[in-house]
This record gives sequence, C-alpha cells and structure tokens, in this order.
Amino acid sequence: MEVLSGYLSYFVYGAPLLGLFAWAARRRRRLEHTSEVTYREAVEAGLTQPASLHPVIDTSKCIGCESCVHACPEFPAHQVLGILGNKAHLVSPTDCIGHGACKRVCPTGAISLVFGTAERGVDIPAVNPDFSTNVDGVFIAGELGGMGLIRNAIEQGRQAINTIAERVRKEGKKKNVPLDVLIVGAGPAGITATLGAMEKKLAHRTIEQHTFGGTPANFPRGKIVMTAPASLPLVGKFRFRETTKEKLVGFWERIRKDTGMVVHYGERLERITRTGSGLEVQTSAGTYQTRTVLLAIGRRGTPRRLDVPGEELPKVSYSLLDPADYRGQRVLVVGGGDSALEAAVSVAAEPDTKVYLSYRSAAFTRAKKKNREKVAELAGSGRLTLLMETQVRSIDSESVVLDTKAGRKRLKNDAVIVCAGGILPDGMLRDMGITVETKYGTS
Ligand SMILES: Cc1cc2nc3c(=O)[nH]c(=O)nc-3n(C[C@H](O)[C@H](O)[C@H](O)COP(=O)(O)OP(=O)(O)OC[C@H]3O[C@@H](n4cnc5c(N)ncnc54)[C@H](O)[C@@H]3O)c2cc1C
Ligand code: SF4
Repeated sequence: MEVLSGYLSYFVYGAPLLGLFAWAARRRRRLEHTSEVTYREAVEAGLTQPASLHPVIDTSKCIGCESCVHACPEFPAHQVLGILGNKAHLVSPTDCIGHGACKRVCPTGAISLVFGTAERGVDIPAVNPDFSTNVDGVFIAGELGGMGLIRNAIEQGRQAINTIAERVRKEGKKKNVPLDVLIVGAGPAGITATLGAMEKKLAHRTIEQHTFGGTPANFPRGKIVMTAPASLPLVGKFRFRETTKEKLVGFWERIRKDTGMVVHYGERLERITRTGSGLEVQTSAGTYQTRTVLLAIGRRGTPRRLDVPGEELPKVSYSLLDPADYRGQRVLVVGGGDSALEAAVSVAAEPDTKVYLSYRSAAFTRAKKKNREKVAELAGSGRLTLLMETQVRSIDSESVVLDTKAGRKRLKNDAVIVCAGGILPDGMLRDMGITVETKYGTS
C-alpha cells in the first residue's frame, strides 16, 4: 500500500515537474538556436558594429538567466540580445538603439553600456552639463550628444532652451543679430526646444533638412515605440509609454498645428562661423546672424545623395515612409543594404507596382540573409527586377538613365527611393571647431 502511494505521489507531483523542466529546456534550446541564426546572419552581412550606446556583457558575471534578452523593448520584433554558450550575447548589434533596459534588469551587474568597439570608434561631441560646447554660443541637445531615446531628447531639448533663454536674458538684446537662437533639427529634441523658444518668446528659427518628427517619423509603419512620460513647454505632459509610430507622429503634428509652430523644411545646416557679435550660420537656403545655435540633429546624419542631374525632383526621396504611396507606380530603389532591400520588398507588395532595385555591386553582401532571400524570391516570381552592377546617371520627370554593363539604359519611372546610407555629422562638427571625442568601447 505504502509503495503504491509512493508511486502515486510521484505521478501527482513529479510528472508535472518533469514536464515543466522539459518545456523550459525546449524553450531554452529554441532561444539558443534563434540566437545562433541571428548572430550568424549579422556576421555574414558584416553588421557587427552597433551604431551608438550598446551593452557589453562580462561573461565572468553572466549567469545566463535571459532577463536581458526579454527586457529589451525591441524584442521580439528584433532579437538584439541572445544566449550563446549559456551566456548573454549581443547577437544583432545594429538593431540595438541603446534603450539600456538590459543593464537595469541584470541581477549580477554583468552589463555595462558603452559607445563604439575596439574595432570601430564612435565620435561623440564633448557637451557640458548645461548643453554648451567649446564653441561659444553653440549648444547640443538630444541624441547627437550621445544619449539616445525620445524621452532623453525631449528632456534635453527643454533644458537646453532654458539655458539659452537665461543667457539671452542676461546679455540683453544685441544690435545686428536678429535671432536669439537658430534650432537645427525637428526631431523630439528640436520640437521641444522650439516649443520652449516660443514659450520664452525668443526670436528663433527652426530648420529641418527632411520631415517633421525626426527619426521617429522614419520608423517602419506600425513600429511599437517604447518611451516614458516627459514635460513639454506650452503643452504640458507628454504621457506616452508604449505607442505606435503613427500615434506619436500624429501627436507631434497636432502640437505643431495647435501651437502654430513654424519649421522651415528642406533647409540643411552647412556651416557655423563665429563673428564679433554672434554666430553666422550658413544653410542650404541662406545666411543668418544669430546669438546662439542649438544643434538637435541626432546621429543618423544626412542621407547620402547620388549627385546626379534631376536628383532635386520631388519624385526622389531618401527614405520609405508608406509603401502605399507608391501604388500603381514604377519605382526605382537604389542601394544594397538592408534599408534598400526592405524598401524594395515592401513597395513590391503593393498592388500594381513595378519595382526595380539598382545596386552598383554584383551581390548584396551587406544585407541580412532574410532580406536577401525575400528579394531573390520576388525577383524569381517577377515581382521585382534586379539591376545589379548598375549606377544611376540622371533622373527626369518620366524616366531614369542607368549605366549598365551592356551600356546606357533608360527606364520609364515615377519615383526613386535612394537608400545609400548617411553622412554622419561628425565631420561637420569638427569643421565648426566643436571638440569631438572618439570612444572605443567606453561610456
Ligand atoms: C529603428 C529605430 C527605432 C527606435 N526606437 C525607439 C523607441 O522605441 N523608443 C525610443 O525612445 N527611441 C527609439 N529610437 C531612438 C530615437 O528615435 C532617437 O533617440 C530620437 O529620435 C533622438 O531625437 P533627436 O531629436 O535627438 O534626433 P532625431 O530624432 O534624429 O532628429 C534629428 C533631426 O535633425 C535633422 N537634421 C540632421 N542633420 C541636419 C542638418 N544638417 N540640417 C538640418 N536638419 C538636420 C534630421 O533630418 C532629423 O529630423 C529608435 C531609433 C531607431 C533608429
Ligand atoms: S541579465 Fe545579466 S546575468 Fe542574465 S543573461 Fe543577461 S547579462 Fe547574463
């Protein structure tokens, strides 16, 4: 009888426990497998260098508990961290945007957040606690200063404009210098600073090379945005914690309309020079005299141009906002990285589009395997035409001309999307005399 009840207890308590262990082991094997695949693809595509702030894992302290993997707000859309050989590993470095949630949850303190790696340094401008730089009158807020994330950009934009307003108040008005501040960039930092300038009644001008909303306006459609409440001048609380790209951009748009904020689009900062009475700012649209400049230009840089005749036509863009805009059109996508391949695939999914993908090399060596496979599949089924080893020579309203191995070729065309990477702002900052430090895996 006793033996029987022993067996019974085993089945009642032991079997579910064994089942639980088996389930956990299977789940862990699956995670290790996806981590391996993700890491291999990143290495194959040469995508091993994180753009900015990212985690470094001390494997002697890591106990492989997975907390960091699941805490990353990009997971599961992107597997930034994974488990390899029972330890946490940055398996998709270029997908890391520096949330820092991994460091906060690690129970053993195995994670530090750093800029750059031993192989590739990252340039970060030296910014003082009051957001000033070594160039008198030039201030920096937002991701350009090294600290990513929307909530940080908002907070820094607010604090930086307060510092500028205080300086202007102390100095009093200056003759021949019409602007108190020229704000460069209309991302979260620039928008907040502009609201602050309006609230403090500063004579200001905000310029933006591209569209309103900054980097978030270029997030993929439907992206879940993780952020935190912050305070906006003139508006009050920014309450979002988790939202979508569309809701966030809609929120910025409403603020712009309700407050009458003016942003000068399509205007790019080119140069800042110190003069006797202030700063002279050269942009793509003109020259301005200002007492201060707030650089809120982020770290994504200026899109690399093709430098061909016709590139200034409105049908040419440098990012894909909504694939549905291209329905029924003949579209040329230019580039060979992930963003070009992803753009070509999503436009090809729209009804009645004719999509061409032009790349100067013979193979897509700098794109992830899953993107290369999707492109090959669409090319195989005729939904997309690959134009390898070609270069755009000119663009006009109805066509594009390409150099191909078989000579010049003209294609009928309605839209061109150039995804040729970006020129980072570091060179421009150095030319302005701003001190820039190169970080090789340090905080
Ligand atoms: C794929 C991806 C996903 C992300 N997800 C999140 C998330 O979920 N949560 C989060 O908090 N953060 C996220 N981030 C980070 C966040 O987008 C940035 O940290 C934030 O936008 C920084 O704000 P900013 O105002 O400093 O710069 P940006 O938003 O980058 O804005 C800078 C603006 O300056 C303009 N500009 C640049 N150079 C010039 C020039 N020379 N002249 C004129 N204008 C110029 C640019 O066109 C741009 O509009 C993500 C980033 C990426 C790339
Ligand atoms: S949270 Fe810390 S201990 Fe756990 S896997 Fe990540 S790095 Fe290792």
